[in-house]
Amino acid sequence: MAFSSESVSGACAPVGPGARRQTRQVTLRWAQNAVRVGGDAPVMVQSMTNTDTADAVATAIQVKELALAGSEAVRITVNTPEAAREVPAIREQLDRMGIAVPLIGDFHYNGHKLLTQFPECAQALSKYRINPGNMGGGKKREDNFAQMIEVACRHGKPVRIGVNWGSLDQDLMARMMDENNQRAQPWPAQAVMREALVVSAISNARRAEALGLPGDAIVLSCKVSHVQDLIAVYRNLSARCDYPLHLGLTEAGMGSKGIVASTAALSVLLQEGIGDTIRISLTPEPGGARTREVVVGQEILQTMGLRAFTPMVVACPGCGRTSSTFFQELADSIQTYLREQMPIWRGQYPGVESMNVAVMGCVVNGPGESRHADIGISLPGTGELPTAPVYVDGERVVTLKGERIAEEFVDIVQNYVKRRYGAAALSD
Ligand code: SF4
Repeated sequence: MAFSSESVSGACAPVGPGARRQTRQVTLRWAQNAVRVGGDAPVMVQSMTNTDTADAVATAIQVKELALAGSEAVRITVNTPEAAREVPAIREQLDRMGIAVPLIGDFHYNGHKLLTQFPECAQALSKYRINPGNMGGGKKREDNFAQMIEVACRHGKPVRIGVNWGSLDQDLMARMMDENNQRAQPWPAQAVMREALVVSAISNARRAEALGLPGDAIVLSCKVSHVQDLIAVYRNLSARCDYPLHLGLTEAGMGSKGIVASTAALSVLLQEGIGDTIRISLTPEPGGARTREVVVGQEILQTMGLRAFTPMVVACPGCGRTSSTFFQELADSIQTYLREQMPIWRGQYPGVESMNVAVMGCVVNGPGESRHADIGISLPGTGELPTAPVYVDGERVVTLKGERIAEEFVDIVQNYVKRRYGAAALSD
């Protein structure tokens, strides 16, 4: 194929995430703390526990794990009087442990009763998630919704009006289907469903405002489980309101399927500037860590260049030139080491979260990729001399040999972090 002169001349157009959609800003408060969503706040990563909230100790421990992994708000199920009764104790345990993360209560069916009967629970939470599709039908739904909004107003709490494909308001859906049938050219059922999600979210937000809840105390979400539906619904929702939006693909699934589907959907929307807080709804593998959903959420934002949380490790995939697993093990141990250091490093070494580390398998791309990283190592491939040049800020500084390459490289990374991001560096 011949290239035209147009196709090879000129620089690539700059590409980056689009300007963030302008939204109101919502504040989640507890004690003297405040965390902001929307407006000029960075896109927030949040998560949800899967413990029984009535077990305050187990729930507080899991909230702590999620917060230490980087979750900036944690949602807990509040489904029974026993759970509601324990919410203040969970908050107290977290405060005692020094875990500064807001708690969000997830309510379905009986939230109006629980929030009214347990005012300490209503006060201990920093936000309420309300699902308008799970509050009964007709007048009962309206009364229950109004009761929850009244509690939110009384305690000065924001709410997320979280509409879900699987629990869409059936009265609204039936009415919109009837209206659709009157159209000269009825929409496909899927289009009506998408419209119903958006209408449900916005109309309930407007009603909450009419009931007295400030407009800057409302976050919206419309969760569905298919990527193209999610993109279509959020594009539409974002164009029709200025409330902050919580993004997430509901029931994303397990393992790579859940990660890929969530990443595909969220990255399209985030690239368009849509989304103020995200949650990755991964089904944990048996015995798997709940914190994985936090790590995946952070990695989506960081790989898109929207935020930085943890130094990133660039590693080649390996090929026939790497017959040993040494470089895979080194890449894995370095990534784990960097993530484990972050709770301490975050305070000691500001800016370290933007550091790039390269761990490469052979001489083909190893030196080049290592030079582009802040710090990189090019390991010996099959048949190469058993030496590993290390590059710091683009310069080859040392060549490691022998049995202790991994340990020595970790030492070099540690010293680099201290020198580049430590107090001495900042005072220069
Ligand atoms: S850097 Fe070397 S080992 Fe890694 S993928 Fe490229 S050729 Fe293979």
